[in-house]
Amino acid sequence: MIVIKFGGTSVLNAQRIRGVAEIVQDLKKKHKKIGVVVSAFGGVTDELIRMSKLAASQDNEYINVFREIRERHQKTVKELNLQSDKKLHHFLEETFAGLHDILHGVYLVRELSNRTLDFLSGHGEILSAKIITHYFQSQKISSDFLDARTVITTDENFGSARVDFKITNRNIVHFFRRSKDITVITGFVASTTKGEMTTLGRGGSDYTAAIFGAALDSKEIQIWTDVDGVLTADPRKVKKAFSIASMTYEEAMEMSHFGAKVIHPPTIQPALDKGIPLLIKNTFKPTHAGTYISTEPADQAFLIKGISSIDKISLLTLQGSGMVGVAGISARLFNSLSHAKVNVILITQGSSEHTISFAVKPDDSIIAQRAIEEAFRLEMRAKMIEKVRVENNLSIIAVIGENMRNTPGVSGRLFQALGKNGISVVATAQGSSELNISTVIHHHDLDKALNSLHQSFFLSDVKTLSVFMVGIGLIGGTLIKQIAKHRDHLRKARSLEIVVAGIANSKKMIFDADGLSLHKYNELLSSSTEKMDIVKFVQKMKDMNLTQSIFVDCTSEEKIANAYQSILESSISVVTPNKVANSGSFKQYSQLREKAKKANVRFMYETNVGAGLPVINTLNDLMSSGDQIIRIEAVLSGTLSFIFNNFLEGSSFSDIVQEARKRGYTEPDPRIDLSGKDVARKLLILARETGIEMELNNIKIQNILPKDCIKAKNVDEFFVALKKNDAVFEKMRKNASNKSKVLRFIAKLEKGKATINLEEVGSNHPFYNLSGSDNIISYTTERYSERPLVVKGPGAGAEVTAAGVFAEIISIAKYFE
Ligand code: ADP
Ligand code: ASP
Ligand code: MG
Repeated sequence: MIVIKFGGTSVLNAQRIRGVAEIVQDLKKKHKKIGVVVSAFGGVTDELIRMSKLAASQDNEYINVFREIRERHQKTVKELNLQSDKKLHHFLEETFAGLHDILHGVYLVRELSNRTLDFLSGHGEILSAKIITHYFQSQKISSDFLDARTVITTDENFGSARVDFKITNRNIVHFFRRSKDITVITGFVASTTKGEMTTLGRGGSDYTAAIFGAALDSKEIQIWTDVDGVLTADPRKVKKAFSIASMTYEEAMEMSHFGAKVIHPPTIQPALDKGIPLLIKNTFKPTHAGTYISTEPADQAFLIKGISSIDKISLLTLQGSGMVGVAGISARLFNSLSHAKVNVILITQGSSEHTISFAVKPDDSIIAQRAIEEAFRLEMRAKMIEKVRVENNLSIIAVIGENMRNTPGVSGRLFQALGKNGISVVATAQGSSELNISTVIHHHDLDKALNSLHQSFFLSDVKTLSVFMVGIGLIGGTLIKQIAKHRDHLRKARSLEIVVAGIANSKKMIFDADGLSLHKYNELLSSSTEKMDIVKFVQKMKDMNLTQSIFVDCTSEEKIANAYQSILESSISVVTPNKVANSGSFKQYSQLREKAKKANVRFMYETNVGAGLPVINTLNDLMSSGDQIIRIEAVLSGTLSFIFNNFLEGSSFSDIVQEARKRGYTEPDPRIDLSGKDVARKLLILARETGIEMELNNIKIQNILPKDCIKAKNVDEFFVALKKNDAVFEKMRKNASNKSKVLRFIAKLEKGKATINLEEVGSNHPFYNLSGSDNIISYTTERYSERPLVVKGPGAGAEVTAAGVFAEIISIAKYFE
């Protein structure tokens, strides 16, 4: 004998019902007798309830809902080729006529008691079980129909009735003595001793199966649903959730108590009492092993078994000096709640005994508050106990598993994962069984918390980084190409998943938490209706609240840089080649670091100086290892490097500047490069990194441009003026050359002073042999005092800059380990 149950999605329509018949026929080969409990067709119970409530509020829409429900059943009957089944036809006519009469009554008296609601909402199971029985018979499967109301007896607690097992078990055993091979049973419904219809609570068909299974000593109880068993987390919230092969009854109980809808919580008790294993199977994948629930020690692959959550709860807190050392306070508190029929989901008490907090369903919070204020009226009047504090819009997350009883470190890992993602914990409790640790968090953080915990406990080797990019010009565009190209490799070799969840150019923005197409983002942007607005972009990132979020700014705009502080505050890391923020006021520079530190996230900007070269990291490594910086000398502009490296005998200065411009090395107006301003910003950042409080105007820049070049109204006029001045530059070059030296535009930091000058350097100087558009940075330190430490290489260009940004994005994954 075996009892199996098919949920609403497994009997959603004719096609699925045919699938159910196949599964039953297959099981028939192994089991002599089968009890098949069925739910209402998927969604029908919800519709029956909606219809009843509409009628009670005299909304005529109820009749349309009634008709839709009737048509849906008629259609399924037709699709199962049962239209000429007279008996079934007659049954449906009668049932719907009966429902209509009651519904009309509800409409007239405008009242819907729990008793009437049970009658109306329980009919989904009666209809589905009847249709399925007739279908089985049409397929020559010898089967009977059993209306569970005739055997399951309950009290009169309509909506969630309690079973009288003594009578019920006797009835069930009696019925099955003479039953056919297969009995199709209505889930969810029962009746009182007076014969009034009751229901076992939403999701109660699972319970029906357990009641039958236990009464009949079923070999196992199979719950067939639409997923591969009990998963590590709710798959609607955590996409990477996977099926748990086996677990104990207690673990299953905790998972379902804390919201795992896949099993209705009371289901487990009857199975546990009789030691009957529960098997959760997927109707859509009958070959998948599913989840096996029994007393056997379950597999120990992970530290925990699963993560559950309750979406919406309220937290009530009772506190006051009058609670310390006084016996019986909590007994009085929970007595008052039990009198008010309030179900307490979680309790936590501060070690000072000063406060007791507990979680209830939001609908219960006012009733609970009143009950407590009544119970502690006197103490509250005497100000020994404060008024009850109620916090709403909260959720509970519970990590569950037998394994954590003897393994330390579970809570450490839990709080670390939450902390690193900026999720604050409102309250926490550990069940006395040590089978679960529950934390109360803000509802807004729920999905992020579930995903971060899931990642931390189950997929610690697979990390997801959620990247939001602003600016898709040369550097941004190249970065996207690099990500697209290396993504597969990172996934395989480094178990790192990079999801680009938001992209914006100067006009539009697009978002997708599952990842935007890195090949079609340009089309998506141009067809997007969302105008780019940095404030909205930041808000959207916060609302999406994804795990390990990183904001990447590939613009050179101040407006975007000004948003960094609020982004960091929201626990989102920032990676940027845009040097505007770091070269603004010192106050802004230091605030950004503070915010990042406080929010426990990263602010990374290696590419601000020297593009892909390790300039800032080298400096930081030297300093953090205790070295003292004596002097930094650098050629920090690829453009100026190119110009002076090529300014050799026989060439004119203006021709070389023209050449640099033609190659795209200069700004549209080369005077911006030649003025040394860009170099100054880079030197400023280096100075600040060494710990000096410096502002941009503290840097002395030698002006190398003659007056008429500066005054020229446009670029063309500038080149005319520059040509006229070729002799000035030639003279400088010649002077140097006569001493066997070359000209280099050098930024220098020494003794707290920053200068930028055109200098002559000889062949013993490390900057003598520069080529192309190389940058070079030499650090003279206490350790590297005789021969400075030199970093040299291409210091500009989209490929190397984007690669530098990419490397920093990847390095953030390590931080979350
Ligand atoms: P049925 O109609 O078969 O009773 P339910 O909708 O009641 O199905 O329960 C199955 C659903 O429970 C799944 O589709 C899934 O979305 C949800 N669910 C929530 N948490 C879990 C979990 N931890 N494991 C599996 N499913 C879960
Ligand atoms: N049909 C009922 C419900 O939707 C019972 C069940 O499906 O388990 O709640
Ligand atoms: Mg269910």
